[in-house]
Amino acid sequence: MDWQRELRLRQEITQAGRRLWQDGLVAHTDGNISVRLDDEWVLITPSGVNKGALKPHQILKVRLQDGSTDGNGKPSVETPMHLTIYRIRPDINAVVHAHPPFATAFAAAGIALTEPVFPEMIVRFGEIPLVPYATPGTDRLAELVVEAMQDHDAALLQNHGAITAGRTLEEACGLMEALEWTAKGLWLSKALGNAIPLTPSEIARLFAMRPNPVR
Ligand SMILES: [Zn+2]
Repeated sequence: MDWQRELRLRQEITQAGRRLWQDGLVAHTDGNISVRLDDEWVLITPSGVNKGALKPHQILKVRLQDGSTDGNGKPSVETPMHLTIYRIRPDINAVVHAHPPFATAFAAAGIALTEPVFPEMIVRFGEIPLVPYATPGTDRLAELVVEAMQDHDAALLQNHGAITAGRTLEEACGLMEALEWTAKGLWLSKALGNAIPLTPSEIARLFAMRPNPVR
């Protein structure tokens, strides 16, 4: 076990938690963050802790195979949702779940972020699908999430929030930030009465520019 790497990742998770909380993407004890440690283990935030005040030693280690911990502590209730993504996406090393206000409003209204309005959104995400509602923390939610995340790096969770996945934690957090900006931009342009869609040829050009298209 490379303990220096584990320590660095624990610190990165606390920094990510502070960033999500400061940016208003999570409230109180909401949201959860995980990172793939190696073939066997995943680091994940504990249940019931404010992400703005998280300490490296509070982060828990769970087995990728069955979600069991290596000791004491209660891992995030959303652990099943995180682990299923790592199991089917070997390219993914970090998962972030948050409740960004604008994105969550779209999720509550049952609207996926698929309108081709912003070029960067298409290059980053392709599209952001909407996962149907299931009770938070259940295996059913994990099943529905993984269906959407097998070919997307981000999704809205109906009546709940959003989830992003990255090759690094920096990428997963950046995608969460970008997802919220997309929702906010779309919301504001619709308030002005017009969100002009890009043309089909421009959309095709942007899709061809995607750096990490999920297959
Ligand atoms: Zn949640």
